[in-house]
Amino acid sequence: YREAADGIIGRAITRRSSGAEILDADWQLVRPNGRIRVRPDHVENGPEGPIIRRLRTGKPPKNVNDDLYALYHAAAAQELGNAKVEALFLTTDEVVPVPMSEKVIGNRLQKYDNAIAGIRAGHFPASPDERTCPRCPQYFICPGIPGESSEF
Ligand code: SF4
Repeated sequence: YREAADGIIGRAITRRSSGAEILDADWQLVRPNGRIRVRPDHVENGPEGPIIRRLRTGKPPKNVNDDLYALYHAAAAQELGNAKVEALFLTTDEVVPVPMSEKVIGNRLQKYDNAIAGIRAGHFPASPDERTCPRCPQYFICPGIPGESSEF
């Protein structure tokens, strides 16, 4: 495990462009229903321009296009102008570019807007899912997860 962990960290560092400025990005997107804090895993401004990178473990799936990348795109455009968005899969050391059209970004942001509106209105029930929940940051505190007696 120690070897694997060393390898993962080593690959994350090695992938940084030489001479690039590493930015400690903590951005906010102001949306119609609230603000969204965006803290990308890695942001650098190097010879090829700004790169916004999400760090993932495991192997790349067929499609890398989670809604989160729309936040990366929108926040990067706001803060840095034109920027590349990528996913770095640390287990296999593969970088996958995640381009998105303006239309797709807009549609994804609309989903966040709807979610925020629903949360504010108290109409956003948790929807537990045995595949998604274990990887969710809220997993251990989520009130939507039933107790052990449940079949979930
Ligand atoms: S742990 Fe809770 S918040 Fe996270 S995906 Fe599951 S139901 Fe949703």
